[in-house]
Amino acid sequence: MTTIQQNLQDIRQQIATAAAHCARAPEDITLLAVSKTKPVSAIEEAIAAGQRAFGENYVQEGVEKIHYFRERHAEIPLSWHFIGPLQSNKSRLVAENFDWFHTVDRLRIAQRLSEQRPVNLPPLNVLLQINISNEPSKSGIRVDELAELAASVATLPNLRLRGLMAIPAPETDYEQQLAVFKQMALLFQTLSVNYPQIDTLSMGMTDDMRAAITAGSTLVRIGTAIFGARDYSARSA
Ligand SMILES: *Cc1c(COP(=O)(O)O)cnc(C)c1O
Repeated sequence: MTTIQQNLQDIRQQIATAAAHCARAPEDITLLAVSKTKPVSAIEEAIAAGQRAFGENYVQEGVEKIHYFRERHAEIPLSWHFIGPLQSNKSRLVAENFDWFHTVDRLRIAQRLSEQRPVNLPPLNVLLQINISNEPSKSGIRVDELAELAASVATLPNLRLRGLMAIPAPETDYEQQLAVFKQMALLFQTLSVNYPQIDTLSMGMTDDMRAAITAGSTLVRIGTAIFGARDYSARSA
């Protein structure tokens, strides 16, 4: 077994343990393997260990990987999630290639994605990104902007509103992590009153996964704990 495969096994075990501690079913938590900056060989190893959902932050890099696996492993159904900030001029590549988009933070980007989504593909699954820690200059909308953005996005024909996503400010204390994730869970519950179809709460990374699961995350985005530390120096935009 390779290191990546061992890491995946360990993470799955940690998800199961965290779920058991709060009486949740582990299968209600999707593991998204965040493969940004990592080579296709690393993704191949993860696929061999049964991983199917991958997260990418950079449009060009992500699209290259999607094409690579479509050509080489068309028989293996992978799902590709765009989880980074997106400039409007690159929205078409996302609309044409990805299955999920986690970072809707303005109506204009959602409108473009809907307009550019090819009609032969299923609707693009989208999440609204909340700036839950109210950090200046960070991506995501304020809590008081959520109702209006959700109402507009829900009407777009080629998108499917699936839920919410957040990247809280880094915090090492478990109780502090939990408090912020619980705010997200409450927002999610409130939103689901008007949008009963939403089913995805994307939160939790390598350093705060356990608190996120305890608070109700349905999708954890894990990079470092699976693939090791990232090296950004070789990356091209
Ligand atoms: C890079 C990234 C991750 C993965 O973070 P790790 O700490 O390596 O697990 C998760 N979510 C988003 C939005 C990211 O950009």
